[in-house]
Amino acid sequence: MLVLDVNNLCAMDTGAIVIRIITPAGDMDSAVDCPSLLNFNDLLVAIRDVIPEATVTAFEYEDEVGDRITVRSDEELKAMLSYYFNTMNEQRINGLLPDPLQIFPRAGKTPGIRNIHGLKVNTRPNTANDCTHAIPDSMANNSLKKSSAELKRILTNGQINAQDIHYQEQLGHGNGGTVYKAYHLLGKRVLAVKVIPLDITVELQKQIMSELEILYKCDSPYIITFFSAFFVENRISICTEFMDGGSLDVYKRIPEHVLGRIAVAVVEGLTYLWSLKILHRDVKPSNMLVNTRGQVKLCDFGVSTQLVNSIAKTYVGTNAYMAPERISGEQYGIHADVWSVGISFMELALDMFPYPQIQKNQGSLMPLQLLQCIVDEDPPVLPVGQFSEKFVHFITQCMRRQPKERPTPNNLMDHSFITQFNDGNAEVVSMWVCRCLEERRAQGHV
Ligand code: ATP
Ligand code: MG
Repeated sequence: MLVLDVNNLCAMDTGAIVIRIITPAGDMDSAVDCPSLLNFNDLLVAIRDVIPEATVTAFEYEDEVGDRITVRSDEELKAMLSYYFNTMNEQRINGLLPDPLQIFPRAGKTPGIRNIHGLKVNTRPNTANDCTHAIPDSMANNSLKKSSAELKRILTNGQINAQDIHYQEQLGHGNGGTVYKAYHLLGKRVLAVKVIPLDITVELQKQIMSELEILYKCDSPYIITFFSAFFVENRISICTEFMDGGSLDVYKRIPEHVLGRIAVAVVEGLTYLWSLKILHRDVKPSNMLVNTRGQVKLCDFGVSTQLVNSIAKTYVGTNAYMAPERISGEQYGIHADVWSVGISFMELALDMFPYPQIQKNQGSLMPLQLLQCIVDEDPPVLPVGQFSEKFVHFITQCMRRQPKERPTPNNLMDHSFITQFNDGNAEVVSMWVCRCLEERRAQGHV
């Protein structure tokens, strides 16, 4: 029997959590920065916003064996959070990223409590010993008085506000905008914030925001975590997880045993995106990020057509990592991402762009004519003597001129180059990132 003491809740280092509201029409994720400030009515109001057609009076969560526990009060909410934090801690200890807290809204009459696991919930009114001592009085009992703006701040998709972000250094500048390292004061978390100037109508802004919603659903250890996006005047700011190793384009010739582990993560990340019917569309070394924990994550995938189009209007040029069929304006699909994996890893292995006649100076956008050789010529091949046969074969397959001849997602995961390095050894990447950062620091580059 699992006995939970709700009073433990205040002692826990809760941090931000993601609550997933499961509805028949689909799921909605909401990031909650300060879960200890959350109360039952807040959550109910948020659920009613998501499914206004139902009369939601309570919700349920699942315990570790999948039994549903009903939540109808602040105390029961605390018990649920306490249970969730325990699970989250266990997942973290096991090196896993925590799953979101899934809740199932219940409409109408509420049948009796089903608590077959005997969860002990403290139902006493608040006393000095209660967990609520962590919650300011003003927040504890006045949820109904809260303005909707305040509510939204605590529990909405756009929970990061411009005024709560403290910008630190500039991390880099791309074709679309500038990326900053920043600190989110409310969430007490370091972020990467990409700021893109966009002169567009409010209608288009709304469309972009709604297209970006799918990012809240992306939940993979190989995809950068998206926190929030907002417009201020004519700029959109996109807040994501900060990766302390930065992007792969700045690393010198990466050894094959490290590159192999990176390739596993990139293929996993893409397979995940494809499973959500998202094409990355911008696979390249600067969109592959690493950290000192040895994690590798993809960023900057094109979920918002409007955002991609609006940026393209300002920045002209064609991306040198694009597959030949894209350069020549034909239809393209998953296979185009696979080409970009091939050319990116070839560049990372050789420490030079695989088409020597293409000089990439700043960024990856080039005049279209200069990229014609990618369409016309046989694709380059890695020099066999310097790299393993498996690696050479992997790149050659990814860079087949005919899209259909390139590996499918399953073939990619099953390729011997990938399976060989699919050993979950994050240490290899971690040590390599740390060593490179150390070298850069010694040279005064960081
Ligand atoms: P493009 O605009 O075509 O995507 P790019 O990828 O080089 O080109 P940005 O996406 O603006 O440009 O990124 C600029 C730089 O910021 C990256 O090269 C990377 O070094 C850094 N960067 C981006 N996102 C993060 C992040 N989440 N954590 C750490 N560094 C990041
Ligand atoms: Mg980028």
